[in-house]
Amino acid sequence: MSPAHAKTVAFKRGERNVFFHVLTACNLSCRHCYINPREHGTDTVPRENLEKWLTLFQDTNRETNVIFLGGEPTMHTDLPHAIRFAKKLGYVSVTVDTNGFLFHDFLGKVNPADLDFLSFSLDGPSPEVNDMLRGPGVFETCTANLQKAVAAGFNVSLIYTVSRYNIDHLHEMVPLLSRWGVKRFFIQVIGIRGKTAQNGGDKWQLTPEEWLEKIPLVAAEAAAHGITAVFPKVFLEPGEKFECAGRVAENYFIFPNGRVYQCPLCEDYPINGYRIAENTLIANSGFTETRLFSLDIPEGCVINKLLQPENLSYDAQGSPLYKISCCLLKQEMSPE
Ligand code: SF4
Ligand code: SF4
Repeated sequence: MSPAHAKTVAFKRGERNVFFHVLTACNLSCRHCYINPREHGTDTVPRENLEKWLTLFQDTNRETNVIFLGGEPTMHTDLPHAIRFAKKLGYVSVTVDTNGFLFHDFLGKVNPADLDFLSFSLDGPSPEVNDMLRGPGVFETCTANLQKAVAAGFNVSLIYTVSRYNIDHLHEMVPLLSRWGVKRFFIQVIGIRGKTAQNGGDKWQLTPEEWLEKIPLVAAEAAAHGITAVFPKVFLEPGEKFECAGRVAENYFIFPNGRVYQCPLCEDYPINGYRIAENTLIANSGFTETRLFSLDIPEGCVINKLLQPENLSYDAQGSPLYKISCCLLKQEMSPE
């Protein structure tokens, strides 16, 4: 189904990733934004809690990565401080995901040595494609700042969220990334949550055939240009083992209102497994995502079956034609 040198990046046992949404505010209004103010609030994590929450999730016995996100995280004036604080605490890698606007002189205030990756979101190789999804003028600002970041010595990666609206242009990204000096290319599948769920998810989603036909080829092309490409596995091949990251790894998706999810697919619902209250991490009781992780079904991911059943197909006997993998399971193609 995929080129021979596509490698599935299995969850490492004990791996810990902290996805820290430091605010939910954003200067943009992308058509496929997954931030849901009803569930995630409109707060900004104050400086004091940035420190306390980073300390709360750091574990000196286990390697932990932190990814700062928003909203637009660079709108938070204390983000450079949070980056330095995370490094000092011993997080093994620190990443910032940005829409490219880099507010508050971000490049001038952060030392490239303190940030492992600065990741820009761009959804098209031209203003026509990208700005239709992310807003007028975004392509120009984002790509200009991306090139400034490369010139300033930052490790730059790029996230392209693939949907019906931009899949035909994905391959055009590779020469641009190569020219700009981008080191990692994250190809992300559109999630049916937030605005996408409200605006008719079926208009956005790809078929399995489209995904399998196009994505691995573009990833291979990127690898041939010296860029590491990472993309979700999505469909398991016959005989491949299904694993739920909620069971075998530790991923914490933290929101400013104190909700902590372990599965990003659950973020539109008040079923978060944990919450932060008075700077303590508390396991929620009652019906939470945690209960769903332990269910074994022939279709693979339980939450995909509940929320996105249109992703599934069955044979005449009612058996699923393929399993849907955990959305956190990735494949990687690295340069030879
Ligand atoms: S940049 Fe991110 S947070 Fe802001 S509107 Fe777009 S998808 Fe949402
Ligand atoms: S996406 Fe599915 S398999 Fe992955 S953590 Fe969520 S419930 Fe588990």
